[in-house]
Amino acid sequence: MSLDLDAADLRAADVPATEVRAGADPLHAYLRFDAAAASRGGIPLDATIESRFAGAPAGTQERVADAVGALRPELVALATDLYEHPEIGFEEVYSSGRIADLLTAHGAEVERGAYGLPTAFRASTGVGGPHFAIIAEYDALPGVGHACGHNIIAAQAVGAFLAAAPLVAGIGGRLSIIGTPAEEGGAGKELVIRAGGFDDVDAAAMVHPGGGDSVSPVYGGGTSGVRRVAVTYRGRAGHAALSPYLGLNALDAVVTAYQGVAQLRQHILPVDRIHGIITDGGAAANVVPERASAEFLVRSTEVETLNVLTDRVIDILQAAALSTGTRAELDVDFEPPYLPLRPNIELQKRWAGALTAQGRTVPVRPAVSRQGGPSTDMGNVSQFIPAIHPALGLGAAPDVLPHNAAFADATILPPAFAALIDGAVGLAVTALDFLADPALRAAVAEEFRAAGGRYRWEG
Ligand SMILES: [Zn+2]
Ligand SMILES: [Zn+2]
Repeated sequence: MSLDLDAADLRAADVPATEVRAGADPLHAYLRFDAAAASRGGIPLDATIESRFAGAPAGTQERVADAVGALRPELVALATDLYEHPEIGFEEVYSSGRIADLLTAHGAEVERGAYGLPTAFRASTGVGGPHFAIIAEYDALPGVGHACGHNIIAAQAVGAFLAAAPLVAGIGGRLSIIGTPAEEGGAGKELVIRAGGFDDVDAAAMVHPGGGDSVSPVYGGGTSGVRRVAVTYRGRAGHAALSPYLGLNALDAVVTAYQGVAQLRQHILPVDRIHGIITDGGAAANVVPERASAEFLVRSTEVETLNVLTDRVIDILQAAALSTGTRAELDVDFEPPYLPLRPNIELQKRWAGALTAQGRTVPVRPAVSRQGGPSTDMGNVSQFIPAIHPALGLGAAPDVLPHNAAFADATILPPAFAALIDGAVGLAVTALDFLADPALRAAVAEEFRAAGGRYRWEG
């Protein structure tokens, strides 16, 4: 039987507990720390960044805003419908179909099941010239629905594409909307890259709901990359009391590995993260576990440090086998890695300009220092072509953040719909700026090249 007590059970059982100091909630202190850290460097939080390029012809922002405004009821209905029908990665059958139906209803030719992925899609307008892609996500999280707000991401992308599409013929170039499944696990965008889906795309953008407006998803500018490492140790079972000396304890190997990773943490970059769980700890307390497993996620803000850190974790996992006489079966990258996000600053400036014109304030705080933290498969896209992944706040309480059920509920409230509209306008204008302005495109490409150019994960 399993021992399945939570804190409430312990209280109910009247187990003497360590006294807990009332009112000591670290959450808000941490939020304040984040805000203070972000304002260091002398750049005020409400500063904006300006692009030196002309972008799309005058009047584009107004035309796009009118078009998105006209679509508002359908975009709000789409975001709400997806909220009510959350589907996890690769199972977004209803969601991708619903999005494709709306695009089709407005005259777009949608390729469903694109790139060999049943829930991916693509629609394009224009022929030849530069090619910009607007990215849609629409997968939910197990148990907490659209707690990452991908319902808003999808509606924003659809609004941006439909509003910009009629203007592409006059401006030139090509505009696509690419529907990418399984951001929360499975790395749908990496699979689209491998299928050649970004080979003919020059730049891409998406926008993600968050705790506030910023040109990047986190204060640090980019996001961390993440690699997944699973290990199963094979030992030898034995009677834990009668003949323990004949056993080889696989659980000991897992515990040794877990402790080794904990020791490594003192010596990693402050922005790095390693976290893991024990997925199999043996079958019975009176049997020496012959098999035990664990799973770790390794995160760092640069491809190079990510790979170095992963190698160090692998060494620790192997050392644990040696020290316990067991055998380690490693499964490295059992899901494709998510690469660190490398946002293109010239594109971020266009985004900030469009959002400012919408009446929002887009802080520069992400440019101050890299902080790392979460990961997105948009990182893989941003290492392949110039890309941006700004955040828009949903106007919820400061402690309502992604992957919390309250965040899902915030996506269907009026402030979220205002963000949806502004985000759609911002994406459309950024795309049209890129297609219209060769000098901007050259600067975007030069920045990308100077930052290391194309990096493609080879495994
Ligand atoms: Zn997300
Ligand atoms: Zn998420």
